[in-house]
Amino acid sequence: MKIFRTLRIFMPLIVAPILAMGSLCWAPSSLAAELKEIQASQIEVLANNEVPELLKTLEELVAIESGSTDLEGLAKIQAAIGKKLDGLGIPYQLIQGSGNTKTGAMILVKIKGNGTAKIALIAHMDTVYQKGDSKKQPFKVADGKAYGLGIQDDRAGIAVILHTLKMIKTAGINSFGELTVLINADEEIGSPGSKETIMALGEANDLVISCETSGTKADYVRLATSSIARADLKVQGKAAHSGANPEFGRNALYEMAHQVLQTRDLNNIAPGVKFNWTLAQAGTVRNMIPFGATATADIRANKMSDFDLVEEKLKEKIQHHLIPETTVTLDFVRSRPPLVPTEKSLAVAKLTQSIAKEIQWPLGILETPTGGGTDAAYAQIRNRGAVIESFGLQGFGGHTDNAEYILIESIKPRLFITSMLIDQYSRQHNSAK
Ligand SMILES: [Zn+2]
Repeated sequence: MKIFRTLRIFMPLIVAPILAMGSLCWAPSSLAAELKEIQASQIEVLANNEVPELLKTLEELVAIESGSTDLEGLAKIQAAIGKKLDGLGIPYQLIQGSGNTKTGAMILVKIKGNGTAKIALIAHMDTVYQKGDSKKQPFKVADGKAYGLGIQDDRAGIAVILHTLKMIKTAGINSFGELTVLINADEEIGSPGSKETIMALGEANDLVISCETSGTKADYVRLATSSIARADLKVQGKAAHSGANPEFGRNALYEMAHQVLQTRDLNNIAPGVKFNWTLAQAGTVRNMIPFGATATADIRANKMSDFDLVEEKLKEKIQHHLIPETTVTLDFVRSRPPLVPTEKSLAVAKLTQSIAKEIQWPLGILETPTGGGTDAAYAQIRNRGAVIESFGLQGFGGHTDNAEYILIESIKPRLFITSMLIDQYSRQHNSAK
């Protein structure tokens, strides 16, 4: 169905969009009430035109490897994103994070509009992958899907942001007060360098739109994400010659295997808790009874208080040893908080849903977490407005070394929805003041 709806809240004194190339301001600030009329049909056409362009952007971004600790790779993807912004005439800054971990720089964009709403878009440019992994997952398009390393998590989020910026610039959308974009480089390692910046960004903005992926079975806006913790377990045993006198040793690997197996049932200890051992290491050489072993569990929960329960049970269980005279120590680290639904975020989700309806795109609202944890949660810590998640593309396969993909049919609706949301939320915000 052809949509032709004129959205007007202000006296529609149509001003030509002033696209101040190279400047941070897209419109004259003195004309606060003079906002361009935005027609849904125009945005729909623009979104449609951007589909092949966005795929090209994905192809470029997927070709760059940028694991969270690969500073060289991160510099390459920063340059690629920077080039795209240059092409749009949008200035950006590279900013360094805080914290003790050396992390890649973040890309920060600030654009002034004519209204009052402060809106931020966030995504991340790092991946969970190692150097060389891209050979296993080159970019390809097949059966309505675009494949490639990191394409779902979170190249798609970056691409949605870049092409949304292009669309709102072309359409002359200037109803917002300030639009901020932050693309960080350490999300996959818990955002040690960027979380302070993200918290401050959350505090300064009325609406934060996080551009991580949405599901493949159904498209949705997400209002809740899991909190994340880790358990580092260390076993201290005793070394001995594995051939001459193994009985003198205390095998740390056996003890660790026992610990890992006896804590398996912590998974699902409370609704939403996911407990999985994901890393382990033991021994130094083949012919020595290993004197040390380490293992790390990744833990997800719907609420921070569930971690208390997991930690307590874990402490209790590790008292039971298989190998006598070994010591087992636990370090339990709570990292990412959960994103929780709020009245304000639900209101924005409903607005998003009504925008999706204009193009007959079914869009659900997810109010319970499903295991993923994202930076949206950091943005919410000091935020008094709304924080909404899943504005990347529909996709699957993130954090695997095979078949990560996005659904091509989700590109157009997602670009339409994000651009329209920025405009409509801003107009509501302007009229509420
Ligand atoms: Zn991600």
